[in-house]
Amino acid sequence: AKGSGRNSYAVFTEAMRDQARRRADLEQALRAALKQGELSVQYQPIIDLTTGALSGFEALMRWNHPELGMVSPLEFIPIAEDTGLIVASGAWLLEEAATQLAQWRSERPAGAPPVHMSVNVSVRQLRNAALVDVVRDVLQRTGLPADALWLELTESGVFEDLDLSLATLRELRELGVVLCIDDFGTGYSSLTYLRQFPASIVKIDRSFVSGIGVNPDDEAIVRTVIAMAHALGQQVVAEGIETSEHRDWLRRQGCDFGQGYLYSPPRPAQAQRSWIVEQQS
Ligand code: C2E
Ligand code: CA
Ligand code: CA
Ligand code: CA
Repeated sequence: AKGSGRNSYAVFTEAMRDQARRRADLEQALRAALKQGELSVQYQPIIDLTTGALSGFEALMRWNHPELGMVSPLEFIPIAEDTGLIVASGAWLLEEAATQLAQWRSERPAGAPPVHMSVNVSVRQLRNAALVDVVRDVLQRTGLPADALWLELTESGVFEDLDLSLATLRELRELGVVLCIDDFGTGYSSLTYLRQFPASIVKIDRSFVSGIGVNPDDEAIVRTVIAMAHALGQQVVAEGIETSEHRDWLRRQGCDFGQGYLYSPPRPAQAQRSWIVEQQS
């Protein structure tokens, strides 16, 4: 409308100032969050689509701030990355998730397949010299076999300094942990990345899975990623499975694993225990 230009500019800068203030507040609060026990972990089951059985869990970080309430990881993880706080909180989460997994594996009924734990690792952690030691120590303390630990890495960032990242990725791989490319298809240079990145699992981003049954282009992309990954000897996880239609379609395409609200949202360990003690089929 006439004359609104100036006004919306004022509103815009005010919104920006609020945003900057919130970010500064969160940054400050995040520094104390780990020490004050405000961080926790939720777990989301990952299903073997071929058998329908539980394959493992993805560990997802949660921050419950005493005044602000639950802060989304989409908001606080980037702050943790920028400030370097992700190194300490990531190490904490790794320890927490691995300890939980070791307990769950000891509670599995006889004959049930062993379960794995997927943990998100940010580029900032990957560039930290201590990561390989942290992972090695955690495996030693928990007694878990290395292949029980899956590390999920997003393609954004790793590619910026590929040589440095690749050296660490190779060391992790030599340890025997399973490397996964997370959110595949959402970054840049996907094909080059797929070729160079020593990963054995590719996770297809939710944005493509949500198009199944709706958008033929998304279906074509998912089909192609599965074929390509399989041709390269990699297995595929589809994230964001919300309907039985998604699940059935992905099964028909030969997708190996899936996770999503159809099975369960992320929940605290206690609430996911039934996946461990009850035989799923
Ligand atoms: P992500 O690794 O792609 O994790 C999957 C996200 O999708 C999770 O959101 C999960 O709650 C959500 N999700 C799972 N199934 C469904 C579904 O069926 N429908 C819908 N609509 N959503 C689903 P969350 O927990 O909010 O995490 C968001 C992002 O934050 C993660 O994306 C990951 O990039 C990052 N993140 C979370 N925890 C950590 C962590 O411990 N370390 C690092 N570096 N990043 C983390
Ligand atoms: Ca992930
Ligand atoms: Ca993901
Ligand atoms: Ca995603």
